[in-house]
Amino acid sequence: MNVYDSDRMSDVLTPLGYELAPDPEGADMVILNTCHIREKAAEKVYSELGRIRELKAAKAAQGNGAMVVAVAGCVAQAEGEEMIARAPVVDMVFGPQSYHRLPEMIAKLEGGAKHVLDTDFPVEDKFDALPKVARKASPAAFLTVQEGCDKFCTFCVVPYTRGAEFSRPVAKIMAEAQKMVANGTREITLLGQNVNAFHGADESGQSQGLGQLITLLAELDGLERIRYMTSHPRDMDDALIAAHGNVQKLMPYLHLPVQSGSDKILKAMNRQHTGEEYQKLVARIRGVRNDLALSSDFIVGFPGETDQDFEDTMQLIRDVKYAQAFSFKYSPRPGTPGADMKDQVPEDVKSERLQRLQALVNEQAADFHGSMAGQEMDILFEKPGRHDGQLIGRSPYLQPVHVMAPDHLIGQIARVRITTKSTNSLGGELVGAREVA
Ligand code: SAH
Ligand code: SF4
Repeated sequence: MNVYDSDRMSDVLTPLGYELAPDPEGADMVILNTCHIREKAAEKVYSELGRIRELKAAKAAQGNGAMVVAVAGCVAQAEGEEMIARAPVVDMVFGPQSYHRLPEMIAKLEGGAKHVLDTDFPVEDKFDALPKVARKASPAAFLTVQEGCDKFCTFCVVPYTRGAEFSRPVAKIMAEAQKMVANGTREITLLGQNVNAFHGADESGQSQGLGQLITLLAELDGLERIRYMTSHPRDMDDALIAAHGNVQKLMPYLHLPVQSGSDKILKAMNRQHTGEEYQKLVARIRGVRNDLALSSDFIVGFPGETDQDFEDTMQLIRDVKYAQAFSFKYSPRPGTPGADMKDQVPEDVKSERLQRLQALVNEQAADFHGSMAGQEMDILFEKPGRHDGQLIGRSPYLQPVHVMAPDHLIGQIARVRITTKSTNSLGGELVGAREVA
């Protein structure tokens, strides 16, 4: 979502005469778009600001004018004024709901304001206020359909930093998707903090779920692939599950975080489902799409997690079999219920569990990768590779695939036979190009 938000910030700044700089050195404005999900992410912002302070001083010393330093996103939202006190190099602090007001903020600074702070949740629709720019779209692009979250998992800051759940109206999403496709996008990943809680109003004011939205989007000529991220197991409704079977354009890769395999920990996390319910759900989705590749997020060392709870998580991973997974040590976030829970798990125990979990997941990912060898599949080419004459594309299962192929195939889907694999990617060769309208 931060990638999408950063692109929108660049859209807002383009009419003011700004353009992307290759690096922060000498830039007129530097914006750090930040994430607050774990403590490390927040600390990284402050250390990065130390580096930027030097660049800002160097620019001024060379007589090259001022460098405006802005911090955007969820760290800005959460820290607010404190950020300016702790890092005086910062000129502007604004949250994820305010970036469409960048022109006003810049005007305030130019008008002599010492600092600008904007962390309000506005009443107007941020998306409506964004300029409509026609830039060359990438073959695979993001589209935000939903923001915020009402689930309040006890470890998570998202409901506090991104606010209450909000779904964009169907017609606006369709119009944006249509424009993206007209500009060359072939694959759209629908984004939301809890994307399958989507319930956008259609023209008649009726609420539509994500399954219906995907079915509508699939009718767009020229759009070849649809994905969505990130989902909550509780919000996988019948229509969405059915879409995995009926909608060919919906890719067979699903990020469905479970966090833990222990029912006790799932309850303490307020995830509102058990390990068994999750496994049944996975079986239902695989029942309609048998080649579905699954990924998940895991948190190890949530307060109260015993060796046995952790073993339950390992067992769930063995049972489900993931193509990929992201795993984290529990990081207490101020203001969330988890941070105040008793029985916090010591760091060394968290580290040891994380290592074991990642070893298991890596093994499964390698098996999944390995199972692709010799298969033929459709690859959407996105960009040139590192070697001359090579392109990088994505498999239906989201793996990067390196192929010797002509440049004109960028933005197109072609049939590829998978020949090699490395840890994180596949190699293949063209077996004939299918031109896309
Ligand atoms: N909405 C998604 C997750 C969004 S946050 C869901 O419900 O699954 C992305 C991931 O960051 C989470 O899935 C979780 O694994 C991790 N995460 C969130 N808060 C965390 C914390 N306090 N400590 C460690 N990991 C955390
Ligand atoms: Fe955070 Fe996801 Fe839980 Fe919402 S559903 S509180 S975003 S982990």
